[in-house]
Amino acid sequence: MLPFFGDFYGNPSSIHSVGRKVRAFLDDCRERVAGVWKCKASEVVFTSGATESINMAICGTARFLKPKGRHIITSAVEHHAVLHAIEYLVNKEGFEKTILPVDVEGIVNPQDLENAICDKTILVSIMAANNETGTIQPVSELGSVCRRSGVCFHTDAVQWFGKEPFDNIQQFNADLVSICGHKFYGPKGSGALFIRSPLSLDPILFGGSHENERRAGTENMAAIAGLVEAISLFVPSPVFDRNLMTPFIDRLSSLHSLPGVNLVCPYACRLSNTCSFTIPEIDSITLLASLDLDGICASSGSACSAGSLNPSHVLSALGKTDIEASSLVRFSLGRETTEEEIEFVLDRFPTAIERIRLA
Ligand code: PLP
Repeated sequence: MLPFFGDFYGNPSSIHSVGRKVRAFLDDCRERVAGVWKCKASEVVFTSGATESINMAICGTARFLKPKGRHIITSAVEHHAVLHAIEYLVNKEGFEKTILPVDVEGIVNPQDLENAICDKTILVSIMAANNETGTIQPVSELGSVCRRSGVCFHTDAVQWFGKEPFDNIQQFNADLVSICGHKFYGPKGSGALFIRSPLSLDPILFGGSHENERRAGTENMAAIAGLVEAISLFVPSPVFDRNLMTPFIDRLSSLHSLPGVNLVCPYACRLSNTCSFTIPEIDSITLLASLDLDGICASSGSACSAGSLNPSHVLSALGKTDIEASSLVRFSLGRETTEEEIEFVLDRFPTAIERIRLA
């Protein structure tokens, strides 16, 4: 990434030699992604991250296809980037939505999708893997349902990339695939959208003809360079190696034997590095603060604003009560996680809970 802050500072849209040099790098970056994804370079659009990719996929496709119909289908466990984009289209632009339920492990039933598709349906958006529970969806099967019905299919594959075996972008059976760099050791603020040709969509940003007229704005070359390097290094052979992660996650899962601690989605096919629990008598934020006192960095699934905790919409969709859905704690392992770190968490977790119970 560093050369793009120095010698290669030029703007890839400039016609002078400094700009042209950077343009050649940008073209090369797109070719490299296309090489890994096994798609055409023109099917790759660089963005500022998953939120932008997802908004572009959903709003851009819905607006482009609205002469055919205004019905969009998604699932109850999507990231808010998906849910809020669709909500906006429904509230402000006259679209209709169907939110599919999930089973207790967080899986969408392809039959439910098939039943929900009607002649007004133009777009389906279902994620490849969930960020709160790690549950992996049968995306290819869901994509087949859409294909059979001639409906455009988008998948938010943000959590999936770099963690599951990847062969080519067609394996999702999707017309649109959103990713971002920072989930597999690329830079934050980098992302990409796969748009299967010849699908067209309306732009959501205006002002220039960048990215083949699909995303206006001068390209962030350093971020793109970092993203492409991470894709080349970490996507064909996932950086989160399941063989390394499984014993750690199995060991961490044993926390559910503590009184009042429940493992979330224990039977689902899950991402190799993700493990979540609920502890219904304790809210997530208090537990995260207690773990942080011991130097343990964990996440909740909930949005916390101005000190108020919203129950996780994902856990609510799994049928959990508000109290359970407000008590999610999620551990995400990294490629450098060690056995000692796992043992440290196992050792301190009961203390972190006890500290709260005694307070
Ligand atoms: N989708 C999923 C499944 C995510 O986990 C995230 C972020 O964590 C996003 C979308 C949004 O990503 P970004 O914040 O990079 O735009």
